[in-house]
Amino acid sequence: MGKMIIFRVINNRMQFKCEMCEARRNLPVQPNIRNRNIRCHKCGAITRCQLNRRLTRRELQSGKATMVTREGRKIAVNIHDISINGGLGLEIPMRIARAKVVKVGEEVRFECKWNPRLLGSGRFQIISTDGQQRLGIKKLSR
Ligand SMILES: [Zn+2]
Repeated sequence: MGKMIIFRVINNRMQFKCEMCEARRNLPVQPNIRNRNIRCHKCGAITRCQLNRRLTRRELQSGKATMVTREGRKIAVNIHDISINGGLGLEIPMRIARAKVVKVGEEVRFECKWNPRLLGSGRFQIISTDGQQRLGIKKLSR
């Protein structure tokens, strides 16, 4: 059997492509399954599939941004995940967390080169903190 091949899963379906004969088939996949050996419907070869549900999101959304406080202080942050309703999770540097520079309820904005459309405009509010480096942020309606 060949090497593990990564397939993207969207809405619990994958576009399978046989490693041997390149036959394609759109297949349903169960949630929570990461690896699956799939037998080709044409040639019978088995392809080792790694199911990746996050490829697109990670590619688009992981990255660094600059968070700007109301006082104009600029803080380098790592964006972790972005939920559908406009909230996102991010990580601030430990020294900023220790100094308690940012607080829940505070308004911030972002400078973000890799995704200016998402973060480059608009105001956000800090809605949660884990007391350490993780913050939850929500976009404020204009
Ligand atoms: Zn095949």
